[in-house]
Amino acid sequence: MKSTDSIANLLRKNKRLSRELSRMEAVFNAIKSAIVVCAEDGEVMFANSLASEILGVGESTANLYKIIPSVEDAIKSAKDGVLALRELEISYPEHRLLNLQIIPFDEEEGRFALIFNDITRQKLSTEERIESEKIASVLNLASGVAHEIGNPLNSINIHLQVAKRRLAKYKNATQINDDILDGIEESISVCTEEVSRLDGIIENFLKALRPMRPDFASCDPIKPLAETLRTLHAELENLKISVEVNLSTALPKIYADENLLKQLYFNILHNAMEAMDSGGIIKISAQDDDEFVKISFADTGCGMDEEAISKLFNPYFTTKTTGHGLGMTIIQAIVRAHGGKIDVESLLNKGTTITVSLPRTSKRVRMLDAE
Ligand code: ADP
Ligand code: MG
Repeated sequence: MKSTDSIANLLRKNKRLSRELSRMEAVFNAIKSAIVVCAEDGEVMFANSLASEILGVGESTANLYKIIPSVEDAIKSAKDGVLALRELEISYPEHRLLNLQIIPFDEEEGRFALIFNDITRQKLSTEERIESEKIASVLNLASGVAHEIGNPLNSINIHLQVAKRRLAKYKNATQINDDILDGIEESISVCTEEVSRLDGIIENFLKALRPMRPDFASCDPIKPLAETLRTLHAELENLKISVEVNLSTALPKIYADENLLKQLYFNILHNAMEAMDSGGIIKISAQDDDEFVKISFADTGCGMDEEAISKLFNPYFTTKTTGHGLGMTIIQAIVRAHGGKIDVESLLNKGTTITVSLPRTSKRVRMLDAE
């Protein structure tokens, strides 16, 4: 009697559990994220319907690592109880960008819940925005060029007319006149100078226009900085500028293009150097928070007034006689292409601090203790 009772009880419990299970499955399948539960060795234990659709992972799939190899690495780093957030790219069944969150939820058994979110669209719209901004900045640059080339062309025109008049005078002269010849030579050299100015304007314009197709990889933000400082070493010494680098913490990696970073640092440092005409100090410091690695360049140069700060990123804005005014435009384009931001602080006759914030490769958040 007793055993029949308990069997009936067990059957009831079993029925209830399987009802619960199918309810849970319905909930998991309704969630707009792909969810996979797998063992430490990659064996798939559960996959919701979006996981089959996005990742091609089903419960019959033997091993997740075979489908998305980069997950193995992410799981390894999640093993010590931290919750890891990653961005990854898959090409099968379709090319997609995914955001992956890993939750180690059964430390003893070594099981992990993986939540994938499709961020392909989101990324694309950011790229489209950058593209349309680029078109606007090209138009801005082009109108700047038209304005810029006006002066040297005008000057060339005037000096060619002067030279022509002098030549006519020389032709009509009854005896050789060195003064006239010297004048012609002077006009020619002014024209040559103006041509090289035009050359500089065009070269810088093309540099600013060059399509920026960053070659992103996870990299150390300081390595390209050290390389740039090495390149500038002799010039810095000549100008009696000392550089103090203060990196208090071990910095996390950033997702960036190393060559563009070098260009970025070079432009910032060059402006700082040009702002100090009788020596000074450039202090470089770096910090990081959950989202960004922030690198600051503080100089003891001439600083800027309100007007200069407000025009700082305008193409062709320059206060230098030999400046092209495209350095800051390029700096801004590089930082934007990296999804970062720039902060500027400046005090006239005291100095300027430029801070660039570049996004970290992955954000890691300490998991809250479940108990
Ligand atoms: P350029 O260096 O050719 O003038 P940039 O676009 O690099 O062009 O800089 C634009 C202007 O911004 C400079 O002419 C200068 O007036 C100002 N500027 C940029 N960086 C600094 C700095 N560190 N200190 C003072 N002024 C600066
Ligand atoms: Mg510059």
